[in-house]
Amino acid sequence: MRYTDVPDPRRRTCPSCARSLVVNEENFHKDSLCADGHTRKCADCRNEAERIRYSLAAPERARRIRERRAERRAHFESTGRYKAA
Ligand SMILES: [Zn+2]
Repeated sequence: MRYTDVPDPRRRTCPSCARSLVVNEENFHKDSLCADGHTRKCADCRNEAERIRYSLAAPERARRIRERRAERRAHFESTGRYKAA
């Protein structure tokens, strides 16, 4: 029977955790570039991946903030109108 080959369009299996979930805003992030408006990976997997990515970028982020702070301090001190605290 042909129709049994067609997966239920309201459910989707996450390729990362292999869970079959109902496609809605709670389980899958919205993405207008995806065919049905939702991402392929489930929200839990995407959140976890993003958490890891964000924590790996922490040293780089801290370095940029330090640099920017030093840059701004040098600028304000060069104007002579502000005293460093
Ligand atoms: Zn998943």
